[in-house]
Amino acid sequence: MTQTLLAPAACLTNPLHTRPALDRLSSQQPTGFELPVTSQTSPFPHLFTPLKVGRQELPNRILMGSMHTGLEEQGEEGLARLAAFYAERARGGCSLMVTGGFSPNPEGRLGAEGGFLVDADASHHQQVSDAVHAHGSRILLQLLHAGRYGYQPDIVAPSPIRAPINKTTPREMDETDIQRTIADYARAAQIAQAAGYDGVELMGSEGYLINQFTAPRTNKRDDRWGGSFENRARFPVQVIKAVRAATDPQFIIMYRLSVLDIVEDGSPFEEVAALAKLAENAGADILNSGIGWHEARIPTIAQAVPRAGWSWATERLMGKVEIPLIATNRINTPETAEQVIADGHADMVSMARPFLADANFAGKAARGTPEEINTCIACNQACLDHYFKGKDATCLVNPRACRETMLTWKPADTARKVAIVGAGVAGLSCAVTAAERGHDVTLFEAATQIGGQFLLARHIPGKEEFNETLRYFRNRADAFGVSLMLNTRAEAATLADFDDVVMATGVAPRVPDIAGVDHPCVMTYEELLSGAREPGKRVAVIGAGGVGVDVAVHLVERGLRSHLDPAEFRSTWGVAREPEDHAPSHDVVLLQRSTGKMGAGPGKTTGWVHRLVLLRANAEMIADVSYRRIDDEGLHISVGNEDRLIKCDSIVLCAGQVSVNALADSMKADDRPVHVIGGASFAGELDAQRAIEEGTLLGSRL
Ligand code: NAP
Ligand code: SF4
Repeated sequence: MTQTLLAPAACLTNPLHTRPALDRLSSQQPTGFELPVTSQTSPFPHLFTPLKVGRQELPNRILMGSMHTGLEEQGEEGLARLAAFYAERARGGCSLMVTGGFSPNPEGRLGAEGGFLVDADASHHQQVSDAVHAHGSRILLQLLHAGRYGYQPDIVAPSPIRAPINKTTPREMDETDIQRTIADYARAAQIAQAAGYDGVELMGSEGYLINQFTAPRTNKRDDRWGGSFENRARFPVQVIKAVRAATDPQFIIMYRLSVLDIVEDGSPFEEVAALAKLAENAGADILNSGIGWHEARIPTIAQAVPRAGWSWATERLMGKVEIPLIATNRINTPETAEQVIADGHADMVSMARPFLADANFAGKAARGTPEEINTCIACNQACLDHYFKGKDATCLVNPRACRETMLTWKPADTARKVAIVGAGVAGLSCAVTAAERGHDVTLFEAATQIGGQFLLARHIPGKEEFNETLRYFRNRADAFGVSLMLNTRAEAATLADFDDVVMATGVAPRVPDIAGVDHPCVMTYEELLSGAREPGKRVAVIGAGGVGVDVAVHLVERGLRSHLDPAEFRSTWGVAREPEDHAPSHDVVLLQRSTGKMGAGPGKTTGWVHRLVLLRANAEMIADVSYRRIDDEGLHISVGNEDRLIKCDSIVLCAGQVSVNALADSMKADDRPVHVIGGASFAGELDAQRAIEEGTLLGSRL
């Protein structure tokens, strides 16, 4: 996809309005950041203490970890977009980053189109390294051989055991395959060095090929590459040695060690620690942490994981090697990152998704303005879920991520008076983008707070992070002089004086046409989540879409435990112990009319977490339902040909939404031009990603 998504700002006509703070344009388009910040001047002194890695000295301890974007698989065009993506992060103050995965040979590709590095002429990669070096930063290329996790026919592995998340059984590697693959790693590292990369990250975790050699689960060999720990560790050790021998001494070798496999027959801690030492001795300069294989059934990066919920797994290795250790997973703020290092859990922190959410993360941390950071909310919706659906990754809270060359905007030629009605995320993103470009924006909101549906969603376990998005928007709106009119229901007359009117009036819960739906036991999800109504003990949830699943999870977990506490997370999910089951706080029956799989919700990489929570809480899930009526006995349904009564104290309606657009309709009827965005334009399949993207796009065009 090469076309420009947006035309440059239109030539506008009203010169009367002044522009606020255009020098700060824009939070999404970095204007450059001067490093270094020292530990004396930074509010995050541990984070901004330099770190020696091999023969290099890094100015701080922030790593932008590897994030596969899908662009790795799109040849030169993809690399050009990656160059812009990384350059923007380098300009935003990130001093070390790792690319998405490239295989050292064709059989190690993630998919049939997967990127690999075998051609001695990799000069097209030079644009990536040059773009990063231009801002004084460094970049490592990740070498990732997928082994049995490849979604293509020619996959190989130490033993011919199919992964539970793959349909293809791998071919067992013979001695020649193994020797050739080690040589392929060395050659790929040489090519990366020639293309200007500052080093490589060898992906040894998450259940990919190297990890498949080290764990008894996937290595059933009885030759010198399997059996004893020494034999299983031989492959990573030989790979590191070969890469070290093939590259210059200052070329950084980062080894991503699986500090916790979280699968049956994974490596015990003693072997993990021993492998760390072997990797160091073989020539690794720094060890990154990998947590959990992709087939693990404990969340490792989803919203269910508290911030820094896995850094203890890296901390166990501190002192066991001389080289620096990097902690990772669900570290999404400078405060959390600082704490991880201050607590001695690691020497450095890796953050991948937070750099999709905000290219200027490191610069804002260095400047001491963390409140300006657009925080990753760990939803996976536009990054990992996109990748696994074959779409380019981007970010729910930052639609420019991975579209840096396509989604650009400039200061408006002439400031216009813009009214935006509705301060949900569609209205907010439109308001801040338009205001950053210099427009004079007034944002009307009938409620007492900004946020719309986010105000409700933040009550769902794990979605507390949505508060950060609202903090970010509030801050941007203040910085760029948006006039925020809370408690103000805009009328057509109020909007008469504006050059542009944007309707972002959002959605209201759909009330389905079921006999007795006005019974006192019935409430909408909005009434439940806002706290306006209290549910009884036994609750029927009508509708099992994203909101129905969220509400069901909210009901079973309500008030039971803190979702922010790593220790509680470990006991709930049985990390390094048996899981502790709590009696659910409500007995939930989740219902849908269609016949598909229930309880997973919309997220490909997160839906299983919700389903597992509901199954463990003994929530009943009933599909293929016809709703007959609601009365004092409860909810009467038919399932197939059978009538059933769901005895319940409360019924929560999660049957989708309808647009709220009466004001837009009346203005259109009077022939007054309005822009309608977000749920007000189309309620079906509304999600926050579409709302923020539509708002941002319109704000950049006004
Ligand atoms: P939704 O996904 O459209 O689900 C609403 C459900 O209600 C439908 O699955 C439908 O299932 C049922 N329904 C629709 N009309 C009905 C009627 N007249 N009577 C009874 N049942 C009816 O809507 P949503 O759950 O409100 O979610 C809204 C949007 O937000 C969606 O795009 C969703 O993906 C997104 N979202 C995302 C997340 C996330 O974590 N990524 C979380 C929440 C919401 P049946 O017809 O089968 O009964
Ligand atoms: Fe983070 Fe969600 Fe953006 Fe992914 S899409 S980077 S998880 S906020």
